[in-house]
Amino acid sequence: MVKKLFKSSSEESSAASPKVYQRSEHGISRAQVSDNALKVLYRLKKSGYQAYLVGGCVRDLLLGREPKDFDVVTNARPEQIKEVFRNCRLIGRRFRLAHIHFGREIIEVATFRGASTEENDVQRVLENGRLLRDNLYGTIDEDVWRRDFSVNALYYNIENFSLVDYVGGMEDHKNSTLRLIGDPEARYREDPVRMLRAVRFATKLGFTIHPDCEAPIKRLAELLPAIPPARLYDETLKLFLSGHAIQTFEQLRHYQLFGMLFPDTEKSLTVQHDGFPLTFLAKALENTDKRLQEGKPVTPYFLFAALLWEPVRVAAEAKVAEGATDVAAIQEAAQEVIVRQVKRIAFPRRIGMPMREVWILQSRFNKRSGIRPFRLLANPRFRAAYDFLVLRAETGEADPSLAEWWTRFQEVEEVEQKRMTRGLVRKPRTRRRKKRAAGQADSSSS
Ligand code: ATP
Ligand code: MG
Repeated sequence: MVKKLFKSSSEESSAASPKVYQRSEHGISRAQVSDNALKVLYRLKKSGYQAYLVGGCVRDLLLGREPKDFDVVTNARPEQIKEVFRNCRLIGRRFRLAHIHFGREIIEVATFRGASTEENDVQRVLENGRLLRDNLYGTIDEDVWRRDFSVNALYYNIENFSLVDYVGGMEDHKNSTLRLIGDPEARYREDPVRMLRAVRFATKLGFTIHPDCEAPIKRLAELLPAIPPARLYDETLKLFLSGHAIQTFEQLRHYQLFGMLFPDTEKSLTVQHDGFPLTFLAKALENTDKRLQEGKPVTPYFLFAALLWEPVRVAAEAKVAEGATDVAAIQEAAQEVIVRQVKRIAFPRRIGMPMREVWILQSRFNKRSGIRPFRLLANPRFRAAYDFLVLRAETGEADPSLAEWWTRFQEVEEVEQKRMTRGLVRKPRTRRRKKRAAGQADSSSS
């Protein structure tokens, strides 16, 4: 079904007389803006184009926060942008964007998007209300209506450093309110990812989702599985790796969105024993937040390993009960859970492989005699797997003395390590050991 959801451009223009906040009426100063973003803005202006900062950067600057990145919007077409900047690459199929490269910093420059009219309706296709194709260029007063939340739709004009507000974004910003532009239900239907964005921004900014925008979420959450799994992967990383993972998780569950992203995990959360697995997952997310706060790296595979552990663990347990070995059970369970999960969230192989390894290594921690612990210690994934074990032990799922054993095993000298493995290194099996043994024999005989 193809149907039109947008107002015609004439309707929009007449509705749109912006409130303009002059430089003295808002708190954004150029000193807060990245030099490269300023260069892009000035260069566009000098070339005769309009140029604005827009979106998350303006919203964050108003809060005195350092923006993650700077998005620029202009009336120049992509090809015209390319003419202005040598360091420019055009990207995107659904909508052409320009990336201006300055070493590691990229400034994204978009052309104003247009509004739909009777004639160009073919250009913007909606299927069951969802936006599939969208490639019209327009003017600022058309562009604004396509943005999600009013606080994301403020334009900082490089011409005179004013803030242009068509949608009451400043007012909402002052009231710490997240409000969708237009009819909330239609906007969620058009792009269900906006429900995730609502939760993400509310949590990150400490804003409240406006009641009108909050109300339809639970009902519309079921639209999320229609989103391409690769996009949901990107979105999930943003949700859980922005330093507010634990709160985000709670909010996603509250709005019944979490189960749409991780159905197996949601199911396992409803069968809780003594607060586990909720405690395990909560602890894992808390750790993620803490690491980010301390400036330490966080890896997506560890996060996904934690998010999916409970369904894997339960399935593996059932297989062991049916007679499978520990390792085989985890391997099979991992495979099953991953196959189901990637239908929702398509994580790449570089995530799937190490995630699986972290799980499988859990079953090897029990083997503490002979050469095995030494081999495990040398495994490139040992550290992540050990951290995972500690987390399991802390939340009562694994034996704390097992985790303590491994902590100690890493700390002590080799002699002590050998004693810990109960001196069961009887027959040297590896070549190196044979050689070493041979060397010792030589020296003792000389
Ligand atoms: P942050 O970068 O801090 O995560 P952001 O608001 O900048 O937040 P982006 O994904 O970078 O988010 O998008 C930039 C801007 O593009 C948004 O502020 C919004 O105006 C618009 N936008 C992005 N995604 C959507 C969407 N799904 N629907 C409507 N507008 C969107
Ligand atoms: Mg952004």
